[in-house]
Amino acid sequence: MHLLAIDLRKAVRTMPSTYDVIIIGSGSVGIPSAWAMARSGLNVLVLDKLASPGQGSNKAAIGGMRATHSEPAKIKICLRSLEIASTWQGTYGHDIDWRTGGYSFVAYNDSIRDTLQGLIGTQQASGLDITWLDRSELLERVPALQPDGLLGGTFSPNDGQCSPLLLGQAMFEQACKEGATFRFQETVTDIDTDNGRVTGLRTDKGRYAAPIVVNAAGGSAPEIGKLLGLDHPVIPDSHEAGITEPVARFLDPMIVDIQPGDQSANCYFFQLATGQIVFALTPDPLIPGTDCRETSDFLPLIAKRMIRLVPRLANLRVRRTWRGLYPMSPDGAPLVGRDPSVEGYVLAVGMCGHGFMLGPGLGELMDRMVRSDLTEDDQATLDALSPSRNFKGNAALK
Ligand SMILES: Cc1cc2nc3c(=O)[nH]c(=O)nc-3n(C[C@H](O)[C@H](O)[C@H](O)COP(=O)(O)OP(=O)(O)OC[C@H]3O[C@@H](n4cnc5c(N)ncnc54)[C@H](O)[C@@H]3O)c2cc1C
Repeated sequence: MHLLAIDLRKAVRTMPSTYDVIIIGSGSVGIPSAWAMARSGLNVLVLDKLASPGQGSNKAAIGGMRATHSEPAKIKICLRSLEIASTWQGTYGHDIDWRTGGYSFVAYNDSIRDTLQGLIGTQQASGLDITWLDRSELLERVPALQPDGLLGGTFSPNDGQCSPLLLGQAMFEQACKEGATFRFQETVTDIDTDNGRVTGLRTDKGRYAAPIVVNAAGGSAPEIGKLLGLDHPVIPDSHEAGITEPVARFLDPMIVDIQPGDQSANCYFFQLATGQIVFALTPDPLIPGTDCRETSDFLPLIAKRMIRLVPRLANLRVRRTWRGLYPMSPDGAPLVGRDPSVEGYVLAVGMCGHGFMLGPGLGELMDRMVRSDLTEDDQATLDALSPSRNFKGNAALK
């Protein structure tokens, strides 16, 4: 054989496979982004260091999906997430344990009531179906709530819940059907650039070429940024959750208590479509870092808070607890958009406690962004979530 032909064969073997977009992270954000992009005809590769889809923070989420936020950008993205998740089974056939049970933020003091009532105008103007229920209206809807001291609460009937593992798996399967490629147990170690433009990336197993690389690496987003010399203000902190035995339905909607106290900033819980109560709280002070070992402090703390709100929960047995990460941003809102310093490098990071509910709507937005097919509304959302914003705000409903 001619020498040139042999060299050519060698060169083809070592040439990296080429994609339109490479997504780092097969989690709450990476999976739906891959699905939406593949559906639009883009050739997408998703890389994850873990063994299967949704095994990072995604699987720690308790599955709450709400558009009840304080910022219009998050409301709009989550309204779309709710549409996608609530119609998923009818459209694609996978059972994801969806339940439209609504959300209620409850008020047992004047200051929480004023905060919640003060947000309703913006929420309604952003398209959210939400009302204020006074004490008796709320007790009629949630008879299990502690009546003593209750002033009322919000009710947003179209919010809901589903299984993060089932939705992640369903969207992964759908993304594969649409042509996306997923590679697991492969850690991204470097991002290649040429003249300030992304050209691809390297992993511990290979090299891939693409003009666009999306950082959807959750709590590891800053490490990916460092590969390009960039500093992303995302700090992972750890949060615990738990699940009880299943019982007959007695609790709708999801209950959220944003009253600080008992070494916690808030607590939230709801009854799954399958009967168990799942619950979580935000520790105060926060616990920065990546420690995901369960603690013995969590259960006594949250049990006290939950039983105060819904006394009959005292009769339930807890099956297990777990601990995962919130990839926190300084102001409680995600960082989404093209990084101005490296062409082709896109961020979808800092999801805080809302990455699962943002994921499906955000995935579609990411798709429109990389295809430069943004609407005016999309642009306003991206301006609000810009990675270059000043981070002076503070989300009221974190
Ligand atoms: C207790 C608890 C309860 C929660 N409840 C809810 C809830 O009810 N609703 C809600 O919306 N959110 C909830 N959350 C928050 C939610 O889990 C996160 O916001 C969300 O999962 C973040 O999504 P992500 O895609 O950014 O990160 P992840 O889902 O963690 O995905 C990032 C992926 O990137 C991969 N990765 C990282 N670095 C590399 C690398 N170098 N190479 C290759 N792969 C890499 C990781 O392995 C991971 O799979 C909860 C979180 C916790 C801890």
